[in-house]
Amino acid sequence: MLLPTPLQVLHDPLFTEKRVRVLVKRDDLIHPYISGNKWRKLKYVLEHAQQENHHHLVTFGGAWSNHLLATACAAAMNGMTATGWVRGEPVHNLVLSLCTIFGMELRFVPREVYREKRLLFDKEYDGRSDVHFIDEGGAGTDAIRGCAEMVTELDEPFDHIFCACGTGTTAAGILTGMNERQLTATLHAVPVLKDQGFVEKDLARLPSGTAHWTVHPDFHLGGYAKTPPELLLFIRQLASSTGILTDPIYTGKAFFALYNLVQADYFAPGQTLVIVHTGGLTGIAGKTREFDSI
Ligand SMILES: *Cc1c(COP(=O)(O)O)cnc(C)c1O
Repeated sequence: MLLPTPLQVLHDPLFTEKRVRVLVKRDDLIHPYISGNKWRKLKYVLEHAQQENHHHLVTFGGAWSNHLLATACAAAMNGMTATGWVRGEPVHNLVLSLCTIFGMELRFVPREVYREKRLLFDKEYDGRSDVHFIDEGGAGTDAIRGCAEMVTELDEPFDHIFCACGTGTTAAGILTGMNERQLTATLHAVPVLKDQGFVEKDLARLPSGTAHWTVHPDFHLGGYAKTPPELLLFIRQLASSTGILTDPIYTGKAFFALYNLVQADYFAPGQTLVIVHTGGLTGIAGKTREFDSI
């Protein structure tokens, strides 16, 4: 486990031209499989499971879920067992293979059943006292607390901080962490889902403080896991010119948003921007054909 993660300067002629400083918080380096925000989200969930003597983790995700993989690996590392309920028809892919290699039992369920996760859990594990329920994506107050800690590792002053949003838990954690430290910077949440109204609602519901926040709803690029050529080309350009690899589901879209906003003179000259690399690089394996065809 690499913690605290490095805060690295990202060099690009665009940033020189616009006179902004961009730093990447390399949470992707925390662990290859308990990657980025998934490690931060699981930290206190695991602590509570252990305190409660729950040795079997039960959680939920889609077929490419970084959270399922993180939970599978974390369970193995902590001497626990795990079951992952996977949404949809049985499929084979790199992420699910890795889950199985880490010892996770996989159960595929139709979407209608998956939707009622809590009901499914209550029925399946009725009467068992050793089982720990973890919501899809690891969402919850323990997860917010884990993500808030990341802010304490940022030891340089900054004006803006970017992160990709699925459930919005990571963004909520970062905002919480900024308010706890009484920072006045602005959080930029970049939803990767088209239907993202809940991110704004969830952030608005948090206790207000010194920090500011804004949601950028126009960088999902067609919706969840949609990968138009402009995104794939951007990811390739970023990787080949800086060595920073991003995934096409989450972090690629967050970096794309940052670059586009810098280009559009959204930030004042002299400002410092942080972008959190939340990991999830196995997502590339689901899009190799798309990358190969551009
Ligand atoms: C899961 C994930 C996210 C989304 O995190 P939320 O807390 O659900 O908003 C962002 N980036 C990566 C790489 C992820 O795997």
